[in-house]
Amino acid sequence: MELFQQMVEMGHERVLVCSNPDVGLKAIIAVHSTVLGPGLGGVRMWPYGSMEEAITDVLRLSRGMTYKAAAAGLNLGGGKAVIVGDPKKEKTEALLRAFGRYVDSLNGLYITAEDVGTDIEDMEVIQHETRWVTGVSPEHGGGGDPSPVTAFGVLQGILAAVACHFGDGALAGRSVAVQGLGSVGYNLARFLREAGAKVFAADIDANATGRARDELGVEVVPTAEILEVPCDVVAPCALGAVLNDESIPRLRCRIVAGAANNQLADERRHGQELHDRGILYAPDFVGNAGGLINVYNEIVGYNRDTAMRMARGIHANMARVFEISRAQAIPTALAADRLAEDRIARVKALGGRHWVRSVRRRAAEI
Ligand code: NAD
Repeated sequence: MELFQQMVEMGHERVLVCSNPDVGLKAIIAVHSTVLGPGLGGVRMWPYGSMEEAITDVLRLSRGMTYKAAAAGLNLGGGKAVIVGDPKKEKTEALLRAFGRYVDSLNGLYITAEDVGTDIEDMEVIQHETRWVTGVSPEHGGGGDPSPVTAFGVLQGILAAVACHFGDGALAGRSVAVQGLGSVGYNLARFLREAGAKVFAADIDANATGRARDELGVEVVPTAEILEVPCDVVAPCALGAVLNDESIPRLRCRIVAGAANNQLADERRHGQELHDRGILYAPDFVGNAGGLINVYNEIVGYNRDTAMRMARGIHANMARVFEISRAQAIPTALAADRLAEDRIARVKALGGRHWVRSVRRRAAEI
């Protein structure tokens, strides 16, 4: 499809194609919306097979960031960047610095962060060229590892879902199956155990399961069975697209609420299917916004306590999604989109871009 047509259909404001052959940089920065604030989103480095593939990805991902920020109540818009190339072979200081200059040229309309194929060290290289970067280390004004904040936010989503489904939000005596015991899954399992829940868990990494069994007392389940465990909540914290034609009929839980991005293989169809089966789905981008909340706090002056307090707000956001779903008799995935779209429309109706001065002033102080 033609780029302008795609931008119109998806509502993008700006797409910047960046080329610097001297350092081998081929990148695209997409700013989807700056209605609520600067478009923040990570930069992904990936060996895309074609320009079309890279454009499709960056347009889709930047739009997703707009929805995540809006539903989280943050003063942020949506943006994302992709660098075409193999991060293991083609990532150099010069390439990252050249990318940083393009970010800088947008003068705060886009703020970058780490993503697949980029890490905290890369952000610190980019920071030599622009201040519009987050996800740096605490020594450079950053917030450090966002995973505990993300896990705490996911816990809030689970609490809201349990309260909505069972009419009582307590986790003591409830059971949760956690798929993936990485940075987020492990922290989530810890919070769940502290709240008195029984936790089943699976990971392809035997060290991760062994540690969680020994330190947290989780019951380890084979990876092929974790989604089928009879339990109250399934929490996908590993991969995307785990809710699909094959897995949904095998679920034996009441709620799905986890950290993984893009859990529904087909957002509309599988969201509807969970709804029809009476399984309460806590939309991923509402529940896992803790990571974004963490980097947002870097822009306004990082404080871990503030980030955790803001992540607590995910409970109310998720409850609101369930309310919209119930009132309008629509799947929760659709209700989450409506929540985000409604907030953007209301702020847009105020006119002007009220955020520019305050965010720029604050960023200039860092
Ligand atoms: P991670 O890489 O630290 O952990 C993922 C874990 O899943 C690993 O331990 C891996 O071994 C395991 N895994 C992979 N395939 C598996 C399988 N088939 N079955 C079971 N386990 C499997 O990643 P993370 O930072 O913990 O993030 C988890 C998910 O949450 C990802 O989808 C990520 O995009 C999403 N997310 C993370 C954050 C954050 O702050 N880290 C924020 C928002 C969303």
